[in-house]
Amino acid sequence: MARKSLLQLTRLEDRTTPAVFGSPWADARHLTVSFAPDGTNIDGAPSDLFQIMPGQPSIWQTEILRAIETWAQYANVNVSVVPDSGVDEGVPGPTQGDPRFGDIRISSRPLSDNVVVITTPSGVLGGTRTGDIIINSNKWFTIGGWYGTYDLYSVMLQEVGHALGVANSTDPSSPMYETYSGLRNGLIASDVANLQTLYACGPRTSPTRATATTPCGPRRTSNGRTPPSPPPRLWSRLTLPRAWTSIATASRRPRRAPTG
Ligand SMILES: [Zn+2]
Repeated sequence: MARKSLLQLTRLEDRTTPAVFGSPWADARHLTVSFAPDGTNIDGAPSDLFQIMPGQPSIWQTEILRAIETWAQYANVNVSVVPDSGVDEGVPGPTQGDPRFGDIRISSRPLSDNVVVITTPSGVLGGTRTGDIIINSNKWFTIGGWYGTYDLYSVMLQEVGHALGVANSTDPSSPMYETYSGLRNGLIASDVANLQTLYACGPRTSPTRATATTPCGPRRTSNGRTPPSPPPRLWSRLTLPRAWTSIATASRRPRRAPTG
């Protein structure tokens, strides 16, 4: 892979992406994610996700799913892994629940050098691209972000936030800070607060400390009883299908020069 470029002060996505953050998924408790198989047509280029990701799929997919779980634990969000049929990115279809791929579809293809990943946020745009994440396969991703590479989890933490409708943060300590800034360990309180404005997190049944950064616990129903547990998150089984998808309008928009 000679064409991979070294890490630089690169924005995680193109600033010209339409700012349509802030609109939640219609049914965030039943979201799905898929990994587009290599060869899937991503706006004219074949997805090469399985080729460029570090290590075995069970390893790198776990990192991506860990980023999803980092968000989902704080709100009424549940995401299951589903197979991906490999049909073209952005094919006409419903915004959520298309049986051919996940609502959040992850793929990769070469993108311009000032972009690391492009994500189509949930909300107003609609269509099957909604929530999709396209990784720039000219960049070098690792687990741990060793020198000159991007840490997969840290990058995906921001992109999953966008896929859920959360905008960038101006706080450099937030993983939603626009410029890649090295390893991230999780969200900060303002990220959780922003998420919970979109997907409420009710009071915990037996809270010790119900703060904004406390993961959502079991909820009380209106009669005070704890409702049944939600379905398990299927990715935790690690029987991950070969698929993962992509993002929206990236390759067709004008790009600005990179900024620091
Ligand atoms: Zn961003």
